[in-house]
Amino acid sequence: MLYTFDINEGSIVIKMSEEEDFLEVLKELPGVGNVTAKKLIEAGYVTLESIALSTPAELVVNAGVSESTAKKVINSARQKLNIEVTTAYEYYLKKKETLRITTGSKNLDDLLGGGIETQAITEIYGPYGSGKTQLAHQLAVTVQLPVERGGIERGCLFIDTEGTFRPERITQIAEAFELDPSEVLKHILYARAYTSDHQILVTAKAEKMLKKENIGLIVVDSLISHFRGEYTGRETLAERQQKLNKYIHMLLKYATGYNLAVLVTNQVMADPSTFFGDPTRPAGGHVIGHGVTTRLYIRRGKEGRRVIKLTKSPYLPEGAVEVLITDKGIVDV
Ligand code: ADP
Ligand code: MG
Repeated sequence: MLYTFDINEGSIVIKMSEEEDFLEVLKELPGVGNVTAKKLIEAGYVTLESIALSTPAELVVNAGVSESTAKKVINSARQKLNIEVTTAYEYYLKKKETLRITTGSKNLDDLLGGGIETQAITEIYGPYGSGKTQLAHQLAVTVQLPVERGGIERGCLFIDTEGTFRPERITQIAEAFELDPSEVLKHILYARAYTSDHQILVTAKAEKMLKKENIGLIVVDSLISHFRGEYTGRETLAERQQKLNKYIHMLLKYATGYNLAVLVTNQVMADPSTFFGDPTRPAGGHVIGHGVTTRLYIRRGKEGRRVIKLTKSPYLPEGAVEVLITDKGIVDV
């Protein structure tokens, strides 16, 4: 059974009793009263980490508390979590080493310097049917592998915007890795997002589950389809980019704060300014280009193969590998 927390269809991520519990936790912090605590929860701050990782300005804007209250709350949350340095980001970056998750393809792992990394956002973009969702399924399984087999023994939060998640495919891939499919499925939290706002809400609400369910990978498949579909006119482009920017920062914050990997998929659009070479580029412009850490481009190659190219990395050279999509998942050629 999949653990769903589809907030439009009945089951809700954060049950009232849990919210009430957290209200009590918040009220125990020095300098936090009932009113402040309620404002924070209503604004979606439902874990101590989410507060400790914020800046005062963010709390002011998002929760409508005063700046002095914001500072007090953040300090109290950090103290409670034993974070003593000035910025929580620094703390987490220092404290937690980057981990790597195997893709299941040795060649692709090598291209990525050992697999997809935590504390970062990895994007895979490419045309329809190129294999983005396949890679997403594969990683939802490999993240659960024991460390000695290239995994990190943690679960996956799968945010599906297109309705293309297939539990049967997870079963197939799990079997190929000699894992118990029902155990693997139990460790995939599945959320279907129906609109861009819903996608944002589901992702915000999911923060509560990250630690509790030991999530090591968040998949967003696809990052941008709703945004592109809803904000079509020129006059709404700025608003769309602003929302996307905020969304990517939320993901990045989870990645660093919880030392987890984020994999997002993205579409390509025709680039009329390109006359030679591949006439496509990822959608979403600079906001995504700057927001993601690593970019991979996937396309169909000869004889059903897939070519995966590293097009952005903070420290690795560009390069390309070929893989095959089979019943057993993504494998080396
Ligand atoms: P997208 O990039 O649009 O997300 P998908 O990841 O859904 O594309 O890839 C779909 C393609 O993956 C199919 O067209 C098919 O070529 C391939 N594929 C899916 N399952 C299998 C399988 N069991 N064996 C071989 N190829 C598969
Ligand atoms: Mg897809």
